[in-house]
Amino acid sequence: MGMKNAFIYTDAYLDYNYGPTHPLRIPRLKLTYELIRAYGLLDLPSVKFIPTIKADEEDLGLFHNKEYLDVLKQANDGCWPEDGYFYGLGPGDNPIFAGLYDWSLLTTGATLQAVDFVANGEGEVAFNIAGGLHHAMKSKASGFCYVNDLVIGILRLLNRGKRVAYIDIDAHHGDGVQKAFYQTDQVLTISLHESGYSLFPGTGFEYEIGEGKGEGYSVNLPFLPDTDDEVYLWAFEEIVPELVHAFHPDVVVTQLGVDTFYNDPLTKLNLTIHGFEKVVRRIKSLDQRWAALGGGGYDVSNVARAWTLAWAIMNGVELNEPLPESYLEKAARLGIYEKELRGRGGSPPYGRREEIMRETERVVEFLRKTVFPKVIR
Ligand SMILES: [Zn+2]
Repeated sequence: MGMKNAFIYTDAYLDYNYGPTHPLRIPRLKLTYELIRAYGLLDLPSVKFIPTIKADEEDLGLFHNKEYLDVLKQANDGCWPEDGYFYGLGPGDNPIFAGLYDWSLLTTGATLQAVDFVANGEGEVAFNIAGGLHHAMKSKASGFCYVNDLVIGILRLLNRGKRVAYIDIDAHHGDGVQKAFYQTDQVLTISLHESGYSLFPGTGFEYEIGEGKGEGYSVNLPFLPDTDDEVYLWAFEEIVPELVHAFHPDVVVTQLGVDTFYNDPLTKLNLTIHGFEKVVRRIKSLDQRWAALGGGGYDVSNVARAWTLAWAIMNGVELNEPLPESYLEKAARLGIYEKELRGRGGSPPYGRREEIMRETERVVEFLRKTVFPKVIR
């Protein structure tokens, strides 16, 4: 019997809504699921579909403190909790909406199902497209994230005696995850992102390499705005595979944010779905047990196409370029009219290529001098 890969999902995600003007649109998860289904990627013999089950309240307490969780619970009815601002809540990035605590239990539950699935040896890969909320802090909501499912999932793995390598390819720095494991050598965190000089959360510089026993085990690859597929892939290849192999993880956890694309409304990197595809193929080729989580991505069509492509790669399946008819109808209802999975185009041309390459080479050289000698012994 071959190993299975788990896809974890529920339509219950659609019961929640960050609000009409908020960039994180939960229907992107449903559209991704619809495209995956339309391509037949849930009917493969390699696939086990697992409906999401909420996390237990104690699971959230693995990372978050009780006062903060009590505030989130108070906010669950959509009403303003006492001291909301103090905990990062309020109009803007982290709005109060009905069911936000239940939403957090669901997204975290799916991540725990994913990490347990691979840690139990039930299969090689598990994908939770609703996870990847990498900015949430111990007692503060941040960057659309209330509960840090990644940290909780990794802590669960640590409690089971596993070593974890974390790879975060979201356009934003994975600050919440880095901070949680900044002083340990049991988790290797690697984040590739747009520079903190130009993008939220303003951290993730190359010199943030960890502290104490953790020195060398926090790795940051910041990129200048306009960085394209080629430069990004070069840097990824220079840094990530060698470190991950040297670290010998039991499980690789990834945050697969797709807000790095040139047409993402919130960020300024210049990647395409072609570059994303190559990164996902490279992660697959690391040949590790793999808990894959979602992340950012504020163009709904990009999200559906990119994560469908990722799930196909995880299962070793090649997809036809024309998008299935049944999907096109559903996408059109959301005002999305792309007809092809990848499309032909590269990113638009720009004029700072040499400067970007020089800066990226400098960062890579810095990391090879500082973190490589710590991790590669
Ligand atoms: Zn992001």
